[in-house]
Amino acid sequence: MNMVTIDKVKDWLFALSDIYSENREYLTELDSAIGDADHGINLDRGFSAVRAEIEKMSSGGVQGAAGQGPDSFSSLFKTVSMTLIKTVGGASGALLGTFFLRISQAVKSEKEMDGRELVSLFEKGVEGIKMRGHAEEGDKTMLDTWLPALRAMGDAASSGGSTGEILSAGLKNAEAGMNATKDMKALKGRASYLGERSIGHLDPGAVSSCLMIKTASEILR
Ligand code: ADP
Ligand code: MG
Repeated sequence: MNMVTIDKVKDWLFALSDIYSENREYLTELDSAIGDADHGINLDRGFSAVRAEIEKMSSGGVQGAAGQGPDSFSSLFKTVSMTLIKTVGGASGALLGTFFLRISQAVKSEKEMDGRELVSLFEKGVEGIKMRGHAEEGDKTMLDTWLPALRAMGDAASSGGSTGEILSAGLKNAEAGMNATKDMKALKGRASYLGERSIGHLDPGAVSSCLMIKTASEILR
């Protein structure tokens, strides 16, 4: 099985900073339909700060968390979490911060993991999003991308799929889940204030999560 190295994970995080900068207007436009028009701005700000922090860490200036050394998965993910919580704001800052915090606490490998461990980390991260936001599948949130994606990733992992196969299977379900948010009525977050009027629009967080999984499937394979 192809291993997910710490360098690949850094490349993924750097690519997310590019992707959210390219999609800043699009995500913000989606959020202007059913929210407060800041989702793209929030993620662009957050992930460009993540890029800056990783560059600082990698140049050896900063010690990692809890004696893990500056270059382990756990300190990398902890840094991502803290940076997102500090800089993103909004619901998505707390939720994505929790996602990466749970991952940093659950990761067992130091610099290299297999696809199975990656799936189990995504599962831990998404459990954190559920606990923090009290949302379920069908509420028209980022979970409508993540939960179907995780089911496909789990199936591919238990049938012995490669890391690339696991992530491709996840992406397929992520896209379907994201598209399904269009016809849903929002039951959580700011969009829920609109009630029926939230129907007919994609959920911005479902779209940004799909971009996260798409980028993972291109880079972590
Ligand atoms: P805010 O809504 O505070 O302006 P953002 O615009 O950055 O924050 O993020 C909005 C996205 O956050 C939504 O599109 C939705 O996917 C996600 N979200 C909001 N509330 C929840 C929740 N309780 N659980 C999961 N995701 C949520
Ligand atoms: Mg918003």
